[in-house]
Amino acid sequence: MGIFMVDMAQDILGPCELVDAVAETKLCLPDAVQIMTPCSYGNGWLGVKDWGKFALALYDKEKLDGVRVYLDAEKVKNYPHLYQWFMRQGGVETGEVILEIMKAERVIFSWQKVRIKLPPKEKGPVSICPSCGEAHPASDGKLCPRCSGQDDYYQVINGRIT
Ligand SMILES: [Zn+2]
Repeated sequence: MGIFMVDMAQDILGPCELVDAVAETKLCLPDAVQIMTPCSYGNGWLGVKDWGKFALALYDKEKLDGVRVYLDAEKVKNYPHLYQWFMRQGGVETGEVILEIMKAERVIFSWQKVRIKLPPKEKGPVSICPSCGEAHPASDGKLCPRCSGQDDYYQVINGRIT
């Protein structure tokens, strides 16, 4: 489905030298963008929002004009298995969902022209965290995001090995 969405956005956007992309979910869509365009999460040309929305935008990096394609819930109603999956209603038969996606192609999407609002640049000065001694963006405050408890994803098992 992501492949159909990127293909559709590319067709509507037309030829464009420098394209950037935004995916509005962490699942699936970023891969479709990375397979079909030069935009990757790592090179910074692909932004990823954790909104859980099946939508993406491709845009001209210089003019900031773009096309946003999204899975249209009204249109998906015509495909009962796909609708059941999309609405997370459970009891989904994956094979039927895939058949409906292949049959529908672009019919289940809608699109809109968008103007991209760029986020502020994140490259500021760096501080050393007084708790862990590691460098982090100074804009986070004195402590790094982990030591301040904002975002803690690991527990240290064996201390510091150098
Ligand atoms: Zn720290």
